[in-house]
Amino acid sequence: MTIPRRALLVFLDGVGIGSGDAAYNPFAAADLPGIERLLDGRRPVVEHLDAGGRIVSERAVLVAVDASMGVEGLPQSGTGQTALLTGRNAAAEYGRHFGPWVPTDLRPMLAEQNLLRRAQTAGLTVSFANAYPLGGGDPRIFRRPAAPPLVAESVGALTRGPIELAEGRAVASSITNERWRERLGDDFPQVTPDEAGRTLARLAAESDVTLFAHYDTDYTGHRGDLAAAVAAVERVDAFLAALADALRDDALLVISSDHGNLEDTRAGHTLNPVPVLAIGAGREAFAAVRSITDVVPAILVALGVGQDGDGKGRMR
Ligand SMILES: [Zn+2]
Repeated sequence: MTIPRRALLVFLDGVGIGSGDAAYNPFAAADLPGIERLLDGRRPVVEHLDAGGRIVSERAVLVAVDASMGVEGLPQSGTGQTALLTGRNAAAEYGRHFGPWVPTDLRPMLAEQNLLRRAQTAGLTVSFANAYPLGGGDPRIFRRPAAPPLVAESVGALTRGPIELAEGRAVASSITNERWRERLGDDFPQVTPDEAGRTLARLAAESDVTLFAHYDTDYTGHRGDLAAAVAAVERVDAFLAALADALRDDALLVISSDHGNLEDTRAGHTLNPVPVLAIGAGREAFAAVRSITDVVPAILVALGVGQDGDGKGRMR
């Protein structure tokens, strides 16, 4: 087993693993050449998992993990993202599932316990690859924030904006730059999902730990339109395949989510498990994860950082 030198966590909002019925599950209905290549012909649907809830392929380990955290009700983004990005049971700490933004009460814990903060405390370099409208351009970011920009802000890494995006030094949350072009004009180059995947691989090679967040998967799940869901999944497929192919040998890539939604266009959020997909150096250890709260601890252990982020630095 190879020890990774660096790690990249890709957060996909609202992606669960459901049964592979092409009538409502875009992961069954879509063309997924990238994911099938990574999973030796299989897909993230229940019928393709082994008895342990996994797919172990030549290049990847995929595990279906719990996103409910022992708390009743449908998982939501605020508590789910906080749990995924800290390894703490945010739904239990808050008393219920909450979303879509991170509740005020959980923000100090999120700022102190998140993956980037713990890696930075241990002496690693960290980065957030998303482009954000900086300079107070979008007040929603901080009035009703998702967890990823709060994580970035907690380590001083909310630094990529329009200039970086235009120069290919950031990736848009939507993967392609369409929304930025619609809003702010064609200074922003058109990029394909493949190109965005290669850009993210390049950015991830510049830091020890990098975070990237994609939200359209959840927005699209809420629309309940299978054709739109198929398009969203195919975009992610091309992006992840190019990213995985361009990843350096010393890197660990982990892809996960906060709750189910997109995998069943008949409803909104679901109780389905969510994927933890690990690719590259150190992926084998991820066969043991069982919950979204296991992801950050497993990444830190893989990087040789004390599990409690105690600032002792790497153990090698
Ligand atoms: Zn949602």
